[in-house]
Amino acid sequence: MTHKPAIPKIKVMETSRYSRQILFWGIGAQGQEKLGESFVVLVKAIAAQRRLRAINSEVRIEGIVADFDPSNAEDLVRGADLILDGLDNFETRFLINDVSLKLGIPWIYGGTVASLGMTANFIPGQTPCFRCYQPELPPRESIQTCDTAGIINSAPLIVGAIQSAEAIKILVGSADISRDLVMFDLWKNIFSRAPLQRMIDRCPACEGDFAFLRGESVAKVIRLCGQNAVQIWNPAVAPPSLLQLAERLRPSGEVFVNEYLLRFRTGEMELVLFYDGRMVVRGTTEIVTARSFLARYIGT
Ligand SMILES: [Zn+2]
Repeated sequence: MTHKPAIPKIKVMETSRYSRQILFWGIGAQGQEKLGESFVVLVKAIAAQRRLRAINSEVRIEGIVADFDPSNAEDLVRGADLILDGLDNFETRFLINDVSLKLGIPWIYGGTVASLGMTANFIPGQTPCFRCYQPELPPRESIQTCDTAGIINSAPLIVGAIQSAEAIKILVGSADISRDLVMFDLWKNIFSRAPLQRMIDRCPACEGDFAFLRGESVAKVIRLCGQNAVQIWNPAVAPPSLLQLAERLRPSGEVFVNEYLLRFRTGEMELVLFYDGRMVVRGTTEIVTARSFLARYIGT
């Protein structure tokens, strides 16, 4: 790989730091040895890199700053034992799913918004894949994000804790790996789980048709020269209901909507979303900044 983009790779080393973990029957010395040889990719995670380095200098961490996209996805995860989802958008999850199936690497989904959380393990050859469960990108107006619906800080902690325990189980080869979709509403203190369902008879990704990895179903991104703006358009996503989206965005900023476009402004940034699904983010020429803004407010 000539250019290594934004993903910390974590190599776990064994020390007495793990003595209590070794005492635990589900891991033991043998399990700890496997963890010590493991290579995990966390998408993305520069904040995690800083935190992990502060906690444990014996873990080898490589942070890579770049968009995880079809051009670099395979190089970034090749050789990994596990991929951990720390993402804020659906499109990249579909990409992770493609690359996971193609290279035979398990990945752990985790999502949270408001007081809700959800996590699941996707293990090639053993469980349905993410696309079996969620065949298409969800409509934009249906997605809630932490910047539109808010979040309580304990919800991501629980999702992270479950992901972390499942990661250890996958890496040590435990028979107790979850094959369910785990969901909770922390505000109502409701925890539930259900077997991962296949929602379609024939899943293109499971049959080796990796449209997201080929770049066909991912957004086309163009810097608009001289306009301090970036245009993002994914023809694979159905055009949104502008009125519904406007209602969802109203608490988070200034909104104008008519039948042709929706304009949303917050801080120095502005989003113009057209009726055909084309989006223009004004206030930046940086693609990473524009995509991050969309992930925060549109969820994709
Ligand atoms: Zn599938």
